[in-house]
Amino acid sequence: MARFIPNEIIDKIVEESDIVEIIGSYISLKKSGKNYQALCPFHHERTPSFIVSPEKQLFHCFGCGVGGNVFTFLMKLEKVSFPEAVKIVGEKIGISIPSLDKSGGYKENLYRINTLVADFFHQKLKENRFALNYLLKRGFKKSIIDTFYLGYAPSSQDFLNFCDDKKIPKDKLKELGLILPSQRKEGYYAYFRSRIIFPIFTSAGKICGFGARVLDESLPKYLNSPQSPLFDKGENLYGLNLAKQSIREEKEVILVEGYTDVISVYQEGIRNVVASLGTSLTPSQAKLLKRYANKVYVAYDEDSAGESATLRGIDTLLDADLQIKVISFPGGDDPADFIQRKGKESFIKVKKESISYFDYRLNLEISQKPSLELEEKLEIVNSLFLTLRKVRNQIARNELIKRLASKLNIDKSSLVVEFQKFMGRKNFPTSFVKSSPKASEDKDKEKYLLQIMLCGEEAVEIVKNEFSLDEFTNPVYRKIAQEIIKLAEKDQLSHSKLINRIEDENLSSVVSSFTLSDFPLDGIDKRKVARDIISNLRRISNQRKINSYLEEIKESDKRGEEEKVRELSGKLSQLKRKTLLD
Ligand SMILES: [Zn+2]
Repeated sequence: MARFIPNEIIDKIVEESDIVEIIGSYISLKKSGKNYQALCPFHHERTPSFIVSPEKQLFHCFGCGVGGNVFTFLMKLEKVSFPEAVKIVGEKIGISIPSLDKSGGYKENLYRINTLVADFFHQKLKENRFALNYLLKRGFKKSIIDTFYLGYAPSSQDFLNFCDDKKIPKDKLKELGLILPSQRKEGYYAYFRSRIIFPIFTSAGKICGFGARVLDESLPKYLNSPQSPLFDKGENLYGLNLAKQSIREEKEVILVEGYTDVISVYQEGIRNVVASLGTSLTPSQAKLLKRYANKVYVAYDEDSAGESATLRGIDTLLDADLQIKVISFPGGDDPADFIQRKGKESFIKVKKESISYFDYRLNLEISQKPSLELEEKLEIVNSLFLTLRKVRNQIARNELIKRLASKLNIDKSSLVVEFQKFMGRKNFPTSFVKSSPKASEDKDKEKYLLQIMLCGEEAVEIVKNEFSLDEFTNPVYRKIAQEIIKLAEKDQLSHSKLINRIEDENLSSVVSSFTLSDFPLDGIDKRKVARDIISNLRRISNQRKINSYLEEIKESDKRGEEEKVRELSGKLSQLKRKTLLD
């Protein structure tokens, strides 16, 4: 994550804010012993398992596992980034942050240029009657043109003159993909020429790139900004800046294909609509949607929805654990045409009639294989197993298998067996599965070691001097240990600061969980405990190596590789000796 705010300011805000006061301004907290309790805002519950600790300045929910410091809370609740969360808390307690916009940062400078360019395009649209009429004739109202800040890219020379006037450096324009070096003569030419411009905003409302459409039949019809330090079309969703509030409220989003689909649907008052900026949805886009919604209505053009690239894109929504419904428009309309001709009410009606993604896939497959011979049925089953695999909820999965069986008129129990076989093939090698319970015990010990480290410098010193970070088997814990040591070196060890340093929502809840769970750490000799755990971990790790040598020796012996057996046995006895000495 880009980091614009200096650590000193972040720490100052942590020190001067009170987590109880800030969380208490969102949900109602009840005092319970030295902590506060509440019903968790992140999952549905009847008895409170959400704890806020004024002493540690942390919160944790023992129901759903979410936890962290005051910034984590805002990031989760307000769905904002870390710097945004810092800014919100800063504002509440009157600590101002050197403005993110005026910081003169490299990216901020590029955003500033994009904004200047968007202003120019928008102005040009207002001056160009032909382009403006084109949009008005397509049913866009003037107000919506302003809302989406649509523009018009004039000729190459016009654009270059404007950039010279504003003294925008050529290398920056090149970096943003707004100009290209000319191949015939010296100089540059504009990337967007004689096109309608759709500025593409980040979810926070900054212009990261542009989309463009021709006014006539020339090709290519659509053009996007090339990849740049600000723009990656697989990372953004068009319209999200305007839609996010309403998506958050309704917990659902309508996913369309094009710019004009978003604008047309939004114009009719349906606000929770976004477009993927290509035909196939990427995992990052699915994750972005998951931040706001639980349910996605896919409203792609009829002809492209059935194409396999698009289907794969929709599959990635399942990976993100989103419920998916597919809207089909009668007569093969696209969403823009449909809502413009039939209106909002009809749109809502077809949305209500949408079918589940699984049924949509099943119907599509069946329609392509009308005879439904046994072989064709098996093909369908195999293709849908790929989708079923991504459905995480067991009950939902069972329900879908039942539906598949009845639609194809095959026996449900044998379908379940087949699916289990299919899943078995996709699983990890059995050796990995076998070793995992043991590994998880070690992780508990590693976690306990981190807890001890967080209690004070003495334990940190022991770990620093007598243990190597590489010995942590869990990479998450390794990272946390690293940050604890860094903070301790600066004499700044605190739970909340630790969470600021790791800046990861999942890691935050690991820290809050083991700080707020009731481990009796008071009054024990932390140095001794740290040493005990370390030697314990080392013994386990050596034992694991010994086991693997024994295994290898057995295998080599079976194959009659005497040389290898001798070599391994040597290593084994060395290791055994070392373990005894440790
Ligand atoms: Zn919870």
